[in-house]
Amino acid sequence: MLFAHDTDLALIATAALINTGRDEVDTMTTASQLSEYLDEQGYSGRRDGDDAELASVRKLRERLDTLWSMDVDDVAQEVNDILREADARPYLSRHDHWDWHIHVTDAEAPLADRMAAENAMALIDLIRTGQLERLKTCAGDDCESVFVDFSRNRSRRFCSDGGCGNRAHVAAYRRRQAGA
Ligand SMILES: [Zn+2]
Ligand SMILES: [Zn+2]
Repeated sequence: MLFAHDTDLALIATAALINTGRDEVDTMTTASQLSEYLDEQGYSGRRDGDDAELASVRKLRERLDTLWSMDVDDVAQEVNDILREADARPYLSRHDHWDWHIHVTDAEAPLADRMAAENAMALIDLIRTGQLERLKTCAGDDCESVFVDFSRNRSRRFCSDGGCGNRAHVAAYRRRQAGA
């Protein structure tokens, strides 16, 4: 295990959020898409389900998307800003089927603030262990997806082995065949 499981989950949720805006079709344009995303990622706490909430999550998505490829000093600054803006007060929580893990804001704080603060806490783990380079963008030709490289030697290049990795292998094979 590289990080605490809540760090892993927060990073995976962050990548998934960013990718909703990087796919050909934006898949975070309605309250029900947001609700689906939250269910998938196992978010608890307050949900308004209104347009204002959706708008604030979309704004957060843009911010995190930019942050994904910043250098470490800028990410550190952003993390500090996010934690201050979200009024972060970390505490341990245990609920549903989850054992002790960190919550960063009150369960009744606005959704986008809670998401931002949890993401920021996960980024702290990456920054202070010198592993920010695990935040990657897919090397696939037609793919802009981001992903977190959890591999031991940080060698992963594609968002999915089955999809982009496979297509890249096939393309390389065809190029070799064509050249031969
Ligand atoms: Zn929780
Ligand atoms: Zn990809």
